[in-house]
Amino acid sequence: MFGRICPFCKETVKKNAVVCRYCGRDLDVQESCGVSGPCGLFAALVGLTAGAALALGLGYWKERRRWEDKAVNDFSYEEADE
Ligand SMILES: [Zn+2]
Repeated sequence: MFGRICPFCKETVKKNAVVCRYCGRDLDVQESCGVSGPCGLFAALVGLTAGAALALGLGYWKERRRWEDKAVNDFSYEEADE
């Protein structure tokens, strides 16, 4: 009763199992975990890491654009000065 059916071999495995004990295949963990469970924490961690990486990448890109703009501005300023 307290379990779920493995989608591959149709055997009943534990509700929070990540690998089927009958066929040894990875089970879809997203399906079985609640928000407060370890899988929810993992998902939050992944989301946080992805968000941080994205923010870092975006920050670097913006900074790079700023440098390029500055370089272009400096160049045109020097050119106009002469
Ligand atoms: Zn199985």
